[in-house]
Amino acid sequence: MPMKLYRKAGLARIGILVCGALGFVCASVSVNAQLPAQIRGFIASQLATETELEQNFEKVPDATVAEADLRHLTSEPHVAGTEASHRVAEWLRDQFRSYGFDADIVTYSAYLPLPRVTQLEMISPEKVALANPEPALDGDKQSNDAHLLPAANDYSASGDVTAPIVYANYGTPDDYRTLDSSGISVKGKLVLARYGRNYRGVKAKLAEEHGAAGLILYSDPEDDGFTNGTIFPDGPWRPLEGIQRGSILYTQIRPGDPLAPVDPAGKRFTPAEAPSLPHIPSIPISARDAQTILSHLGHDRVPLGWQGGLEISYHVGPGNAKFHLKVSMDYAQRPVYDVIAKLRGTNDDQWVLIGNHHDAWVYGGADPGSGTSAVLEMARGLGELAHSGWTPRRTIVICEWDAEEPGLIGSTDWVEANRTEVQAKAVAYINTDVGVTGPNFSGSAVPSLKQFLRDVTKEVPDPQTGKSVYEAWADREGAENDSLPVSLNGVAQARRPAVSPLGAGSDFSPFLDYAGIPSIDVSFTGDYGVYHSRYDDFYWMQHFGDPDFSYEAALARVLGVIALRFDEADVLPFDYSTYASEIARANDTITSRAASLPGASAILKPLADAVAAFSEAATRADDALASLSSDATNGPAINRDLVNVEQALLAPQGLSQRPWYKHTVFAPGSKTGYAAEILPGVTEALQHRDLAELQRESDSLSAALRRAAACLDDATALARAASGLDQGH
Ligand SMILES: [Zn+2]
Repeated sequence: MPMKLYRKAGLARIGILVCGALGFVCASVSVNAQLPAQIRGFIASQLATETELEQNFEKVPDATVAEADLRHLTSEPHVAGTEASHRVAEWLRDQFRSYGFDADIVTYSAYLPLPRVTQLEMISPEKVALANPEPALDGDKQSNDAHLLPAANDYSASGDVTAPIVYANYGTPDDYRTLDSSGISVKGKLVLARYGRNYRGVKAKLAEEHGAAGLILYSDPEDDGFTNGTIFPDGPWRPLEGIQRGSILYTQIRPGDPLAPVDPAGKRFTPAEAPSLPHIPSIPISARDAQTILSHLGHDRVPLGWQGGLEISYHVGPGNAKFHLKVSMDYAQRPVYDVIAKLRGTNDDQWVLIGNHHDAWVYGGADPGSGTSAVLEMARGLGELAHSGWTPRRTIVICEWDAEEPGLIGSTDWVEANRTEVQAKAVAYINTDVGVTGPNFSGSAVPSLKQFLRDVTKEVPDPQTGKSVYEAWADREGAENDSLPVSLNGVAQARRPAVSPLGAGSDFSPFLDYAGIPSIDVSFTGDYGVYHSRYDDFYWMQHFGDPDFSYEAALARVLGVIALRFDEADVLPFDYSTYASEIARANDTITSRAASLPGASAILKPLADAVAAFSEAATRADDALASLSSDATNGPAINRDLVNVEQALLAPQGLSQRPWYKHTVFAPGSKTGYAAEILPGVTEALQHRDLAELQRESDSLSAALRRAAACLDDATALARAASGLDQGH
């Protein structure tokens, strides 16, 4: 692979000598260069300072400290809405203060349930108790000590239902079509569905729409249990008794407090009016209890692909067996404790935000403790830089959110309450959540930050291989190899490791989808089968997730280098050509889908022009920024324009079907919930085959793209003026 050439030659990359000073064309970073390498967004005179700052920072994160922090964070169950969550928030606030941050707890009140009763039993042909709690397991001393809440689906309706059960595979729209075509209705019945493929709130909404009287969710061993490998406590995968808790709030419609008004000036919903609240009871159970149910279902054998990993033959049902489900949830206004910690910069009008949540379903070993430990080590590192005399250029804001698990409540409350200030000041939001479950780097980002993120990972050593995180990541994906051509400026231009689009499922969603703040999400992943169970604890992390806690330290370094580059950049490191090409590609898909709907192509014609206008503006901006070789005198104004591009892509009225979601390019899929949907408005209008909706969404997206193009053109004009290139234009 091309990097080897440079190592053999022992030279700095040629790229730094031929690129524009700001590195927007080639953001290459050498591994062992004597000269400071090119860093996207930094003028030549600042490279040495930035490089030194990053190196000093990278010395601080320490596996032993991360281990001790994680041990503390996982010492008791700390579900949102309980006093234990408050204790964690207070401890985090005090940690940040001890590192030199101004830290406080911001408290909100939200409509939050706690489970009272979750009961499921077979009542005929024989009486069998199902919904058995997760037992403490031999070997794992840590999870043995607690009074646990019953495993529940947060925001389930309370209810009492006696009915037969129908097995619906993953409970996706396709699965319901399959049931329909076999003449099996779920109306008035209980649906048993396995986790996976989509968000559990989507499963609940689909079950409700199909007339089910209740929903039972379980984790099939094929998806995260013994089919994949050794089970806990001997291995990382889910034991048969393990239960995945989790919220079924319809966050695909809107996250946050379900009773909060969609329009901040409006009045609170009643529970009956709230668009994101489910109306049927739902509980999660273990695979062992699901097996009892599945062995009592009648009717035909399941269709191809529906058989899971349990050693029985799966049937669809219903049969003669009857089941009784009882769920009682205790709904109340409960406090939510966000921790906000600031390290004030010279320029307090620009904020770099980094966050994770601190509430957990039980102990929260990987989710979210592993992310929080890394955030703490990052904060300690930044604090040490400040202690030794460094003042951040921009203000660094670290956020530890409460009530993420019930539905991104702490982050959504905070973003909604501070929207004007966040939109005026935030330059980026960087999230981590299930921060470490293994050694494999994984990143998601808006398209404009994908290459930035790859560049950052070149600067951080991978603990296992001794290579950079980037090289280990590229090796794993087979993305770079010796046969790839090397381009003129020394950067392999062919395949690079993939950075995914941002869907939903964590706290970046209110920042990106509601406030238009460019966002990134990072983690190190591995075999992880104890998600949302009592076994996701310190013992699991110590034995499987990160035994020497070295990836905790590596994640802290990745987060810190991201923060420092955003904080110190002369010109913020956005790459809008990539954004434009991703939009163009998505628009090609839309165009070909439109061919099957008479009248659609004509409606979409102006959209194609707007996509082209955005692409051209992005190319002009990249060119102008690449030739910005003097000190960037227009830097602050250019930066404002570059940040505003993302906000320009918001439609004030939101998407037709779910107005809280304002971003015209990205939203969580309405039928997947976690995975990203690209150009969601027009995509959904085509799915609905609704020309009026298509017209509305196409107009809204076209207007957004033209606003975004205008922001880029402003940045271009400022960059040209600063480089003296504007004569004759
Ligand atoms: Zn989480």
